[in-house]
Amino acid sequence: MNPPAVPTGCVYLVGAGPGDPELLTLRAVRLLEKADVVVYDNLVSSAVLDFVSIGAQRIYAGKRRNEHTMRQEQINALLVKLAQEGKQVVRLKGGDPFIFGRGGEELQTLAKHGVTFEVVPGVTAASGVSSYAGIPLTHRDHAQTCMFVTGHLKDGSADLDWHSLVRPNQTVVIYMGLSGLADICSRMILHGAPADKPIAVVQDGSLATQKVVTGTLSSISGLVAQAQLTSPCLTIVGDVVKLHAELAWFNVNPD
Ligand code: SAH
Repeated sequence: MNPPAVPTGCVYLVGAGPGDPELLTLRAVRLLEKADVVVYDNLVSSAVLDFVSIGAQRIYAGKRRNEHTMRQEQINALLVKLAQEGKQVVRLKGGDPFIFGRGGEELQTLAKHGVTFEVVPGVTAASGVSSYAGIPLTHRDHAQTCMFVTGHLKDGSADLDWHSLVRPNQTVVIYMGLSGLADICSRMILHGAPADKPIAVVQDGSLATQKVVTGTLSSISGLVAQAQLTSPCLTIVGDVVKLHAELAWFNVNPD
């Protein structure tokens, strides 16, 4: 007699967008409805988790700064194990899994173990948060280039390419930059950026708790402290930030 066939599992690496569930893709919603297990990060909003079917197992993998509920290797091993048990696994990450999301690292482990996978892109914070803040990332009068960088600097040391960050006619979007904001601004000024360069910090973009603080490289850290912004925050540097005053449309008069 043949041994019972082992069911084949699959891992779907799915982008959850910046928070507003309306920004989920159709593919993401369909997969959330049929998954056996959903392994999700802390940036995934509760409104997005409402799409997970009632019978599905939910596993929180954490990943707040300095509070890694599960280490990356543990998450990788868990995904392999669940798939080998024959489960349909959704690995749900905030924004887009391939942009500062370690999605590539997780897939490399799956590939090494012969686990089948699929990637579902999500709206990354740069695009979702800037849209909801009314700040176009490019504009023919202001910026022809846009860069995405991480402000989460290894060992507290700044290893960004500052010369390329201060070029004119470009927009720089900084992920994970809240704790290093003052340092980032002073280094940009040190490398030649005008102290009055417009900059915005957006907390909880696309959610009801969204807050947008705008200022200049020299004033922003004080303004952010005053407004008591908390993570997650996205920082946008460039002349396009001036358009916020004219184009803000979301949450403009919160109660
Ligand atoms: N993969 C994600 C980014 C993960 S890094 C993506 O594509 O969006 C986490 C950082 O993303 C946060 O520190 C913050 O800078 C940014 N971010 C994600 N969601 C955000 C939101 N709703 N509002 C503001 N910033 C957000």
